[in-house]
Amino acid sequence: MITVALDLSCAICGHSRFTLPVGQDDGDSVHCANCTAYKCKAMDLERALMATLPPSMPAVPTSSGAAQAVPA
Ligand SMILES: [Zn+2]
Repeated sequence: MITVALDLSCAICGHSRFTLPVGQDDGDSVHCANCTAYKCKAMDLERALMATLPPSMPAVPTSSGAAQAVPA
């Protein structure tokens, strides 16, 4: 299990930290780190987080050459 802060809140206590499964023994459920209430399936979590993020993430950095202009 790992505990992470997410852009989601627990329906029971409003906490925004959740435990995520990392191994097979952890199952596939995400739980509130505060009150351990069941939140959702780990698979559904990705979808839930995607919905809170802007659709286009700047994944490709801009060319470094353009930013470093040589002074005249
Ligand atoms: Zn909770």
